[in-house]
Formats: sequence, structure tokens, C-alpha cells
Amino acid sequence: MSWNFKDWYRHRILENESIPDDLWKKTLAQLGFLRGLSPIELKRLRECVTLFLHAKQISGAHGLIVTEEMHVVIAAQACILILNLDLDYYDGWVEIIVYPGEFIRDYEYADEAGVVHHASEPVSGESWLGGPVILSWEDAAAVGAGVGYNVVIHEFAHKLDMLNGDANGSPPLHAGMSQQAWSEVFSKAYADFCVEVDAVEAMIIDSHIEHDIDPGLGSYIDPYAAESPAEFFAVMSEAFFEMPLVVKIHFSAVYEQLALFYRQDPAQRWIES
Ligand SMILES: [Zn+2]
Repeated sequence: MSWNFKDWYRHRILENESIPDDLWKKTLAQLGFLRGLSPIELKRLRECVTLFLHAKQISGAHGLIVTEEMHVVIAAQACILILNLDLDYYDGWVEIIVYPGEFIRDYEYADEAGVVHHASEPVSGESWLGGPVILSWEDAAAVGAGVGYNVVIHEFAHKLDMLNGDANGSPPLHAGMSQQAWSEVFSKAYADFCVEVDAVEAMIIDSHIEHDIDPGLGSYIDPYAAESPAEFFAVMSEAFFEMPLVVKIHFSAVYEQLALFYRQDPAQRWIES
């Protein structure tokens, strides 16, 4: 084996900053979507988490104290995306800010007359291009329910998407992957999904059902994915890891592209586990 400086440096971090066994076991028990990972993959994930925690600075906001346990829970979710890629995929920024719960995002938008309005809304996560990832701890900890919701995976998928500029649903693909295939598959799936969401919403309005009732899309994918191609990619990434069989059955072409990009086949892991 020929070692370069990066390998040597990483080896030193792994030797000196390894995660305690009991904390690691507790984290794995908490994160059900990691089921089916082989012992080799779990070892690699644990190493990735150690290196991630060395490289990133996680701080609490609004008085939240971020414990060691919280550090590992967040890092393990962030690292599942790059398990078969490299920590370099998260280079270029350092900070993760954690709020106790949802936080307020301020934004501007122009209406049809071109008038710019200032608005704010509560959100559970946010990723900035070249800047921090911001998370709600209440949401980051609410994993394992098997409903496909995972704010950490969502925000870190945006980070991967932003490796080639603004988030647009198209991260930099690996050699051997086809940009054309990716664009065609995602464009079609996104358009079909938007039609489905619109139809369900129209049905809800027609039938005067309360708006806070879950529209109950047949695919179980969060309707927020219809917001934009970037959100579609992030929501599909959540579902790919949290409920891979649903994605494989309802969005098989999307599943295939995500499996190529993440270099993982979580549906197979779930079947075998
Ligand atoms: Zn998003």
C-alpha cells in the first residue's frame, strides 16, 4: 500500500479521535436506515464520522448545547451519503449550526408586478452555497420512523448538488454516468410528480378536506419535492436511504441513477437484512 500525506493525516485522526464503542452502538440503534450495512461498511462509516467530526464545527444556537451524542447522530446521517464517495465531497465549508427546533428563514421574492417582498417562514433545515448547514435538532433527531423524512440527509444532498454551483437537482456525476440519462430521468419523474401533487391538491380543495390532512400520495414521497428540481433531488435522496424499496418500486429509473451516484444499493441491503 502506498500512503500519501492525506492518508497519513487521516490515519492519525482515526487513531486519536475514535468514537467510543457504546456511543457508536447507541447511534446505530437510533438510526434504523443504516440497517443491512455490512461490518466493513459500518467500519468505513464510523471512520467517515470520525473524520467528519474532526473537519466540521458543530455549534448550537438559541442556547442549545450540542452534546457528543448529538454530534455523532448528525455526522452519521451526513456520512451515509458519502459512504462510498469521499469526505472531500463536503470540502469548502466548515460550520453546522443546530437550533433546538424549527428556525425562521428570511427571504425575498418578486411578485408578478416585479415588486420585491420580504417574507419569513419556519424551516427545519437550510444549506448555503459555500457556507453552513443549518439544522433543527428536533427534526434531525426524529429519524427512524420509516416515513422517508430525514432533514440531515436532505440538507447534505443539497450540499452535494451545490458542488457544481447553485442547487439545481444535478450534482457532479461520476465518470461513466450519463448527464443526458440523469437529466431525462429526473426531468420526467419531476414533471410526473408535480402532476400527481397538483391532482391530489385539487382533489382536496374540491372535496373541502381540511388542508392539514396528509394528501396521501400513492408514492409516499413528501409533496415538498414538487417545489423545484433541487428539492426533488434532496427529497428523493432522503427517501432513497430511508425507504429505498418505495423509491425502487415507484421511481425505478430515479433509483437507478441515485444508486449510481451514491454508489450504494440500499434496497438490496433492506431485502437482505
Ligand atoms: Zn431543501
